[in-house]
Amino acid sequence: MPSLARTFLLGSVVGWLVLLIEGAGVVLLYVVAWPYLAIRASVRGLQTVIDARVIRQGTVRCANPRCGRMNSLVGLATCRRCGFTEYGSLLACGNCGDAESMTTIFCRSCRGPIQIFHN
Ligand SMILES: [Zn+2]
Ligand SMILES: [Zn+2]
Repeated sequence: MPSLARTFLLGSVVGWLVLLIEGAGVVLLYVVAWPYLAIRASVRGLQTVIDARVIRQGTVRCANPRCGRMNSLVGLATCRRCGFTEYGSLLACGNCGDAESMTTIFCRSCRGPIQIFHN
């Protein structure tokens, strides 16, 4: 076998090996990452359950440990997106339907912020 052809063959074998190792690395990455992805998905599911409970109760406890007052989710609120003020749910705007800007309400007792949704 001419030395040039042998070098080419060796090069391609090394190339295939590198590709194989890289591919295995990607698979390994997924294998290592999946518990993290699974945990993240279940945490999101749990948060949705918490959010649903908060909405059903209609109240949310203040996050300030010195306060702890239960705050009603119904009240006078101004939408940060369209500026519409209404007496109703603090979680979504009745005018533009925006829920994004209503994710934080403020405690009626200590004025501290209370996060309703976490994601
Ligand atoms: Zn609005
Ligand atoms: Zn408070």
